[in-house]
Amino acid sequence: MADSKLYDILGVSKNASESEIKRSYHKLAKEFHPDKNPAAGDRFKEISYAYEVLSDPKKRQTYDKYGLKGLQEGGQGGAFPADDLLGHFFGDIFGMGGGSRGRGRARGEDTIHPLKVSLEDMYMGKTAKLQLSKNVICGSCKGIGGKPGSVVSCRDCHGQGIKVSYQQIAPNMTRQFQSRCSTCQGKGETISDKDKCPKCKGKKILNEIKILEVHVEKGMRDNQKIYFRGEGDQYPDVEPGDVIIVLQQKPHEVFQCTGLNDLIMKRDITLTEALCGFEFVVKHLDGRDLLIRHSAGEIIKPGDLKGIQGEGMPLYKNPFEKGNLYIKFNIIFPENNFATEEQLKQIESILPPRPAFVMPTGEDVEEVNMMEYTASERERRREEAYASDDEEHMHSGPGMQCAHQ
Ligand SMILES: [Zn+2]
Ligand SMILES: [Zn+2]
Repeated sequence: MADSKLYDILGVSKNASESEIKRSYHKLAKEFHPDKNPAAGDRFKEISYAYEVLSDPKKRQTYDKYGLKGLQEGGQGGAFPADDLLGHFFGDIFGMGGGSRGRGRARGEDTIHPLKVSLEDMYMGKTAKLQLSKNVICGSCKGIGGKPGSVVSCRDCHGQGIKVSYQQIAPNMTRQFQSRCSTCQGKGETISDKDKCPKCKGKKILNEIKILEVHVEKGMRDNQKIYFRGEGDQYPDVEPGDVIIVLQQKPHEVFQCTGLNDLIMKRDITLTEALCGFEFVVKHLDGRDLLIRHSAGEIIKPGDLKGIQGEGMPLYKNPFEKGNLYIKFNIIFPENNFATEEQLKQIESILPPRPAFVMPTGEDVEEVNMMEYTASERERRREEAYASDDEEHMHSGPGMQCAHQ
């Protein structure tokens, strides 16, 4: 009965073994990692989510039995972060978003509030107090708007709230207009002023300031939704909608969240450190100082990625488990002229020898000059060319100048 979408995302069959799933995940995660493939967008999140479910025997079982909905019903109280992810992108992809809940009474709209949280708060957990104003049913008249029996059907619109008028636009042809009844403001009923509830002035509702305690749990993510069922605006005869808090992670100056529960940070090290080892301290999200040591001899190359197990984000609903922390290294090379000719010779004597150079023979060998070629340099040269009176230069585009010389 259930679907196979998560299996399809990982490109495995429904009876794939754990190791098959793992292998396929690693392959796809590499291919679609945002660092490598920024254009792939949500693809990586889907892959991560599919793996998160299928690599966990319990979740996989739930999914096999009940499909994505089964995971989604876990909601805030369940064991899965599924509602967030499902709502966020599976909703669009699989057409699962929203939908009616099949309840009898008309349902009011949900109220959506963004809540900015720091990465530290998502790591440590936090209770945030959110003040919001909402409509509540007037307690004084219990939502009637006046004394019992004082509410009467509007005579002007016969309780419809709209008025219909006709306009003749041609012989034997009339056009029908509908407009909101101005007597009752479209409500279909009126209360005479003397009978109106003094507290809500006949509006049936009052505006109230409400403080919501939002529990940001360890391991929650950017865009995760926290539901307060039935806390939306109240109107008579309408079932109030939900207040939905959408977490918005504030950018962190060191760490970025990536993939499942991993953190990634960039680190500049000098060439000396890359070759001879280094140590540095990273202030973690819970205030600990992580001392990172790398011994001499094992060289770090530009773009190298190193991982530290268990120092990533906690797993939502399972915060003792954590993802990994990855460090991406950038090597800062020394400035020009940092060493004398003599010193350079010394360096060369230590470094592995240069590859052998073989001078080609014959007449077609031509030594050429190599120069700096940055975007601004290119721009400058082009401007120079345009500034000159030479017509040839005027018409020659960049990169094809001076072919006639
Ligand atoms: Zn009232
Ligand atoms: Zn009316």
